[in-house]
Amino acid sequence: MSVAPLAGILDIVPYKGGEATIPGIEKPWKLSSNENPLGCSPAAKRAYQAAAEDLATYPDGDHAGLRAAIASRYGLDAGRIMCGSGSDEIFQLLGRAFLDQGDEIVQSAHGFLVYRLTAQQAGAICVSAPETNLTADVDALLACVTSKTKIVFLANPNNPTGTYLPYSEIKRLHAGLPDHVLLVLDAAYSEYVQTNDYSSGLELAGEAGNVLMTRTFSKIHGLAAARVGWCYGPQVVIDALNRVRGPFNISAPGLAAAEAAILDQDFANQSVAFNTRWLSYLTQEIRALGLEVTPSVGNFILVKFPSEAGKTSEAADAYLRSRGVIVRAVRAYGLNAYLRISVGLEEPNRLTVAALKDFMAS
Ligand SMILES: *Cc1c(COP(=O)(O)O)cnc(C)c1O
Repeated sequence: MSVAPLAGILDIVPYKGGEATIPGIEKPWKLSSNENPLGCSPAAKRAYQAAAEDLATYPDGDHAGLRAAIASRYGLDAGRIMCGSGSDEIFQLLGRAFLDQGDEIVQSAHGFLVYRLTAQQAGAICVSAPETNLTADVDALLACVTSKTKIVFLANPNNPTGTYLPYSEIKRLHAGLPDHVLLVLDAAYSEYVQTNDYSSGLELAGEAGNVLMTRTFSKIHGLAAARVGWCYGPQVVIDALNRVRGPFNISAPGLAAAEAAILDQDFANQSVAFNTRWLSYLTQEIRALGLEVTPSVGNFILVKFPSEAGKTSEAADAYLRSRGVIVRAVRAYGLNAYLRISVGLEEPNRLTVAALKDFMAS
């Protein structure tokens, strides 16, 4: 008999990150991964470099410094914060600690792909609730909950749609869930949201016995390469995650960079202001070309292309590449007619609009 992984493991379609290269183009603009176009806080970079002076020593496996910095920034109990190698790892650890063969998770139809992967890794079933106007629908989510449901995953705002649910809807979702179902609020893009009916869910995660909120240093803090995320929620969930994670799951430079980043509120504020300006520019200018742009509160937009030959999302993707811009096809989400475009620096933002204008006119 030969070696073989558990049933179902090789059926998993591996996650594919945004592409970064175009053959024949030396320095393409990468608008495919919702990264921070301003980079990261200079203090975070210095902290990363300083930590790299000592690579022989194990990092702090307790993440005490980072947890204290996060707790102080948001007024939280540091004992109820858990840090992961990106929020992706936290989702996977949730699967390890909470999902068994045949269990179910519930997500919205265009939920972040990593939730499905988490379920598949555990032999659990991913149930997708229909959306309304590319937005999560609380009643549809609740209708999918059964006695087998262990986790409801909701990215708010959601990637790749950019849409969000107001806090009143989040509270209604929570109120409709049985106590044994864990509601995971993925707030990866929360810092970008500018509407006053929104909440990341920190408060709910502090009060409720079954709500976990996750955050990341990959987006607003511009530290995607460092791989740091965190979550806040009930002690029993935090304790479980700490038992199934690797003892040194975050590198010392990653911890140092994240700790410095959370203290640099100026950089985060600048990033939000920059995003707000250019999100609005991209949305308005691309709508003016006659294309449908989903109202986004994140750092990216979702654009719908016509079905007529030569004007499809595939054609637009290829044309943008020919002009040196890489965006994200979202076929893996079933959104075949759409492209997701991250907010970039001024030059690629203007280039993208100009290129799409030429594309639509051609
Ligand atoms: C980018 C993103 C994350 C962050 O992932 P990391 O592993 O922390 O880099 C989480 N959730 C959603 C929906 C995202 O788009």
